[in-house]
Amino acid sequence: MKLINLDSVTKEYPDGFVALADINCEIDQGEFVSLVGSSGSGKTTLLKMIYADEFPSDGAVYFGGRDICDIKRKVLPHFRRNFGTVFQDFKLLPQKSVFENIAYTLEVHGKSDAQIADEVTNILNVVGMASKADKYPHQISGGEQQRVSLARAVIHRPRVLIADEPTGNLDPISALSIVRLLLKVNSFGTTVILATHDKSVVDKLNRRVILMDKGRIMRDDAHGKYIISG
Ligand code: ADP
Ligand code: MG
Repeated sequence: MKLINLDSVTKEYPDGFVALADINCEIDQGEFVSLVGSSGSGKTTLLKMIYADEFPSDGAVYFGGRDICDIKRKVLPHFRRNFGTVFQDFKLLPQKSVFENIAYTLEVHGKSDAQIADEVTNILNVVGMASKADKYPHQISGGEQQRVSLARAVIHRPRVLIADEPTGNLDPISALSIVRLLLKVNSFGTTVILATHDKSVVDKLNRRVILMDKGRIMRDDAHGKYIISG
């Protein structure tokens, strides 16, 4: 059984716009999948289906064999701990330091201060930001903010990392460092699903590429490149 299974998923937004049309797709534990396609093709909507931020209008999404629509509202926050998310805007809290931005997600999970300090220091080392633990978001570069954001996304060891245009606001060098980190996270066993329209990012990966257009999957290649036509 695959970790994630989208079975004939259609998503119609309340205004009647059909953002996904009959999507069938399976993603295995440990895969690194890039979702590519032009703006408006449905990448973000498809990601939202997976982490239960939006629900299909038709068809079903299964996570670990379980229909996401069957999950009770009350346990959805718990279900969402299976996922870490990073976005184009880093969404760091401006009044918290780098350390605190990561630590607070663990506080929510009820850990001791010593445990938290340990784990935060660990993950800051992984993303190469340990020396800037006491800085505030406005004191570090965009690339560094995204590395912190990535650290925060994986600190609770999610099964799946969802990255929606994580390099969209970054220069090519910083983008490359984020891609390297996504690969590192994946090498630890975390499934990574990356939505991007950055061709240079995808072509470096040599991993599975799903090409979307107008809410449909046009191609699904095991070792794809970002091919726009054909
Ligand atoms: P992408 O991430 O590939 O740019 P999206 O999934 O964000 O695409 O959007 C796909 C289409 O769905 C777009 O045309 C967008 O305008 C539309 N859309 C996205 N969210 C909503 C919404 N909440 N209500 C109505 N239409 C939406
Ligand atoms: Mg998007």
